[in-house]
Amino acid sequence: MKAPLAPAPRDADPARDVLRRAHALLEDHGLANAAAWKRDHPGRLAVGYMPVYAPRPLFEALGCLPVAVFGGGDRDVIRGDSYFQSYICHIPRSTLELGVSGALQGIDAMVFPAICDVIRNLSGMWQMLFPDVYAAYLDVPQNFRPEVGGAFYRAELERIASDLVARGALALDPERLRAAIVTENARRRALLALGDVRREEPWRCPASEAYAITRAGGALLAADHLALLGEYLAAIALRRGSPKDNVRVVLTGAFCEQPPFGLIKSLELAGCDIVDDDLQLGLTYIEGDIDAEAADPLGALVTAFLERGAATASRYIGDAHKGDALLARVRRARADGVVFAAASFCDPALLDEPMLEAAMDEAGVPYTSFKYAENTGQFHVIREQAGAFSDAVRLWESAP
Ligand code: SF4
Repeated sequence: MKAPLAPAPRDADPARDVLRRAHALLEDHGLANAAAWKRDHPGRLAVGYMPVYAPRPLFEALGCLPVAVFGGGDRDVIRGDSYFQSYICHIPRSTLELGVSGALQGIDAMVFPAICDVIRNLSGMWQMLFPDVYAAYLDVPQNFRPEVGGAFYRAELERIASDLVARGALALDPERLRAAIVTENARRRALLALGDVRREEPWRCPASEAYAITRAGGALLAADHLALLGEYLAAIALRRGSPKDNVRVVLTGAFCEQPPFGLIKSLELAGCDIVDDDLQLGLTYIEGDIDAEAADPLGALVTAFLERGAATASRYIGDAHKGDALLARVRRARADGVVFAAASFCDPALLDEPMLEAAMDEAGVPYTSFKYAENTGQFHVIREQAGAFSDAVRLWESAP
């Protein structure tokens, strides 16, 4: 006979269980979740993709499980290092390490969106190292006119869709794509609701938790992520607590290689409420709903990318002013300052940073900056720096 379950303590956190499941997905570098999904869906494909944005509704419409691949975290990298020079970021090394160690065996295809030279080179290396796995470089337009960049991007999506269909994906069906867009829009709105709670009541939804809950979605179908988000939002609504005397910051520059989870926690412990960030930008990259009613749903995906892609370091912004988008985020989040956190040797983030800092100087927004690697083990220095920053912001605010 089974022992009766112990009753939950009266003060048990209502979000404990959903957070535990989110963390399991976050730490699932061997992609056990994707393997289980494939066992349950024989013949279907798991499509891995690198940061930042990938057209997940398209993959879902093809009957595939989109899987965000964010490197190996703090796993040891041995063979991956031997493929790269020392002066580039860490994520390609750890991703390659996952590949050569067999951890990505359950992945049937890899898509490498064009965000920097490192990702482009990695896509070529993937094709040479793993000739049996479909690997596609997804080039994205720098010209946002529908008849130029739009036609180009559409051709890219059609090329990849048709290659996946040739490898066993379902045929591209407009109604399935429409349904996938509807669910993606609902997921995005739930993520926005999560962002609202962070902004209004950061004590109820710390950034470290929002990160885990959001990142878990990279391994799930949008409908499953939507359910997870709903569960978390309902759980934190039950929390009792009160505001803390923290400074409110926007964290930016961390859209690709992810900082270690402990580093995000360290920033919180240093007195920072991270009320907005770009850590998992891909899931909210399209700002606004994709038109699910459009007669041509693939065209709607293209239009959304052209017209409502987030202004980030990896996207050409034409004549727009660098820093305006960040400043708008700072204003919306009622943030006291900005933390520039970029992966070491991340060209897109680090080339943008001086322009963004100049815009913050102009607007009188205080900021601090540091670099990290996904396998950074010591957070002490960063915690001290963030603590000094939050103290300085408080003193500045209280100055007569
Ligand atoms: S961390 Fe930066 S440089 Fe490295 S792959 Fe990502 S975007 Fe490219």
